[in-house]
Amino acid sequence: LGPTICAGEILVEIMATSVGEGFSAPVEMIGPYPSGAPAIFIDQCARVGGSAAMIGAVGRDDFGRVTLDRLAADGVDISAVAVDPDHPTGTAFVRYRPDGDRDFVYNITRSAAARFGWTDAVEALAARAGHLHVMGSALVMAGAAEVIEAAARLVKARGGTLSLDPNLRKELAYGADTERRFAEIVAMTDLLLPSGDELQRASGVEGRDAALARLFAMGVREVALKQGRAGATVHRPDLPPVHAEAFAVDEIDPTGAGDCFGGAYVTCRRLGLSVEDALTYANAAGARNVTMRGPMEGAGTRADLDRFIAATPRRAP
Ligand code: ATP
Repeated sequence: LGPTICAGEILVEIMATSVGEGFSAPVEMIGPYPSGAPAIFIDQCARVGGSAAMIGAVGRDDFGRVTLDRLAADGVDISAVAVDPDHPTGTAFVRYRPDGDRDFVYNITRSAAARFGWTDAVEALAARAGHLHVMGSALVMAGAAEVIEAAARLVKARGGTLSLDPNLRKELAYGADTERRFAEIVAMTDLLLPSGDELQRASGVEGRDAALARLFAMGVREVALKQGRAGATVHRPDLPPVHAEAFAVDEIDPTGAGDCFGGAYVTCRRLGLSVEDALTYANAAGARNVTMRGPMEGAGTRADLDRFIAATPRRAP
């Protein structure tokens, strides 16, 4: 029914090579690495063999060029990505703390990443898309949120489907407008991909079973709950849950695991794979990505993931 599309922030990430707290003294950094949760998601969709297209903006600079070249090389349609001559490509500087937490310095809202709107190219793409994936992180940007809302209505009106990764970030401010938009998107969601307490946030209900019941009553048909090193579980109405343990890997860089999981899961389901098989690929995509430095460097192709699955044991439950 047409490509999977995703609209939102396209960034480069530049990371400290040493573990520590913040940036209060000079540290060695490495980058730029293509990043931004929506960009990581759509890159993984294309890499596992789905038809995938991105909506967003980069600056007219090397950071933008590096990122667009990468998305295009991996098979993402970038015809609806604007190149903004007046604002630089969005950036995220990151440093890992010893406890695994991260300190960020972002330039999103004042960069090209947040300054895109509805264009003829976006309209043409949304009019032929079969699936829209929404990243909650993109809904905090007013322009992006309007594009997402309009695309959601178009895609759903022509019988397409919608997935949502709530992707709530403690660094981002969620005002009343974002909460309202978030609730509107939840009401249109077919497949929800939450982690941590996002199940409660999306449903507005405490407790896993009550939250799932509320979401199913609202029309959600599948919930893929991401559980980090504990793997993932898919819940559907009136069917037993399907759980898969995570793969046993050494984590080098956790950024992007959830986005790669989502890109692989959504694409495999759209390609007609069973929940069990899609879950295996999604767990593998998340696990493979954490073994490499850089937010989307470990996003594997279908062949990469097949090799990874054959060679990697599962973690013990
Ligand atoms: P993020 O926001 O950091 O991208 P998330 O919270 O949305 O991630 P996670 O549950 O951390 O999502 O990761 C998604 C999936 O990736 C997990 O369900 C698991 O399959 C895989 N994964 C993540 N971290 C690891 C790990 N350390 N070892 C093995 N698999 C992992």
